Amino acid sequence: MKLNQCKYCFKMFNSPDTRVVCNNCKPLDEALFSSIEEYLKKYPNSNAIQIAEGLEIPTFEVVRFIDEGRLQFSKGKFERLK
Ligand SMILES: [Zn+2]
Repeated sequence: MKLNQCKYCFKMFNSPDTRVVCNNCKPLDEALFSSIEEYLKKYPNSNAIQIAEGLEIPTFEVVRFIDEGRLQFSKGKFERLK
């Protein structure tokens, strides 16, 4: 078992593998991720700032999906934020 901290509610929880979202917050995470996916289908060359503004979410939420390896910007238009 691994001890993880949820990125949304910051609760500590155990799971067999490394996770960043607890079970309570998983629906939230899925919803956020699919809205980003939808946005990228409509505007394929968006960068993290444009996605964040378009969806009215904090930029770090978008960047975090990239850090988690769940979002990829294949066309080289994405600019990584410091
Ligand atoms: Zn949580």
